[in-house]
Amino acid sequence: MSRRAEAERRRALRAAARLVEGLEALRDALPAPPAYAATRAAVESALDAAVRYGIAAVPPPPPPPAGPTAGVPIGSLTPLERIPGVKHGHAKWLCRCACGKSATVRATLLRRGKVRACPACANAAKGERMARAHRARNPPAHWIEDEPA
Ligand SMILES: [Zn+2]
Repeated sequence: MSRRAEAERRRALRAAARLVEGLEALRDALPAPPAYAATRAAVESALDAAVRYGIAAVPPPPPPPAGPTAGVPIGSLTPLERIPGVKHGHAKWLCRCACGKSATVRATLLRRGKVRACPACANAAKGERMARAHRARNPPAHWIEDEPA
């Protein structure tokens, strides 16, 4: 299942769980029988269906993606040492780029792959990507087939 479909399934299950909670609250709030017999029957049958389809049980949220690990490179960066968050509680990692520069980078940016190199190396990589795309869009010559005689 795709991540998106999985997220949608979880959202639907959470909504269903809230609905089930609401139905249970309604059932418990109904006056004693025989009053509201039809409502009670409808609520009970909806709750039975929820149990039958297993929508009352919400799976636990997926574990957060693994964070950076010291010595395991992310792109051109190698995280060296984790620096606990002080300002705003953002944990950072002291990282060394392949070019030798080092800096502290927020852990979340590393985890999400938003920062994979120092700015200079990232720019160089981007320039290379752009140049490749430009060459793909602008081939050095356009070859045409001979028209049939
Ligand atoms: Zn670099």
